[in-house]
Amino acid sequence: MTTSTRPIYLDYNATTPVDPRVLDQMLPWFTEQFGNAASRTHLYGWEAEEAVAKARRQVAGILGASEKEIAFTSGATEANNLAIKGAYEANRHRGSHFVTVATEHKAVLDTFKHLEGWGAEVTYLVPAADGLVSIEQVAEALRPDTVLVSVMYANNEIGVIQPVAEIGKLCRERGVLFHTDATQAVGKVPVDVDKDYIDLLSLSAHKLYGPKGAGALYVRKGIKLTAQQDGGRHERGLRSGTLNVPGIVGLGKACEVAGAEMALEAKRLAQLRDKLENEIVSTINNTQVNGNREHRLPQVTNISIGDVDGEQLLMNLNRIAVSSGSACTSASVEPSYVLKALGVPDDLAYASIRFSLGRFSTETDIATAVAHVQEVVTRMVENHTS
Ligand code: PMP
Repeated sequence: MTTSTRPIYLDYNATTPVDPRVLDQMLPWFTEQFGNAASRTHLYGWEAEEAVAKARRQVAGILGASEKEIAFTSGATEANNLAIKGAYEANRHRGSHFVTVATEHKAVLDTFKHLEGWGAEVTYLVPAADGLVSIEQVAEALRPDTVLVSVMYANNEIGVIQPVAEIGKLCRERGVLFHTDATQAVGKVPVDVDKDYIDLLSLSAHKLYGPKGAGALYVRKGIKLTAQQDGGRHERGLRSGTLNVPGIVGLGKACEVAGAEMALEAKRLAQLRDKLENEIVSTINNTQVNGNREHRLPQVTNISIGDVDGEQLLMNLNRIAVSSGSACTSASVEPSYVLKALGVPDDLAYASIRFSLGRFSTETDIATAVAHVQEVVTRMVENHTS
């Protein structure tokens, strides 16, 4: 396919392209400056170590953290595993009860399933119909033996932003660890580990115009985790394995760029997103926007279209690249568990589309996408009724 015939990319929550400014910084670390950041005996190692130190400051910078509190990982899946399993293993003396939310990413939910196999007890909070959990729900779930609460910052499917600061504050007062999967939030909205009372935070480079396969776990000073990967004791013993220097350099630069451009970019994307959402909702019958529309990321909207078959809809929308409210499991197509948890009926969940915009989305992209959705839905409704 040539570039001009490729579908318009509106799936930035799935992954983002690497920003050319990020790639530029990464390239030398693949070739001339290929040293191992743990090599202490020559220039190649020293330069790599310095590049990693700079990236650590850049990542810490976007979180309001100290660079000593950043451990590099292969992405958010690994960071979530390390935070949750590491906290379980390091806190057996305190208890083994955990609290999370039914709409978390699988990288959190499946990690908790694993902990249950180890003997942990996990409370899964069900959010309200708008996708938000309340501080009261969290308060009610806490027990004397609760070790950790894990609530995502922003949801990948519907974009809703949880009341993280309030939950964090409550956890701090109760002496419970607070982890947040901030993969979709970092670089999109301001995140501050102190103001938000966060103890552990997961992030991933490929969601903010950095490369795939690089991420980090923020670990508040003084918090003990048991490493989940043993070896050369890299990252202060928290995560052994030779550091992915180009990936880490890319993550650092991606955080720097996103931090500098966040305020303006959020405003631009919110305007484009609102335009897309309003035009679809006002011209197509029986639509609904899923999730709270006020407390959400600026670049995401999740819309169900009531009058059409979900599977066919996605097949017909071949000029745009979007996600749907269904997931292919090995044997069948299942409606999104996130939308199900919000009480969205199966047929509406199947017929839901997640549009996620990003840095390279333009006014023209949005106008073309809206026209395409309108045309496809009109055709499907006509065919259905004729
Ligand atoms: N958490 C959330 C909320 C995500 O959206 C994703 C990526 N889809 C992940 C975790 C996993 O991140 P990674 O791809 O870096 O492992």
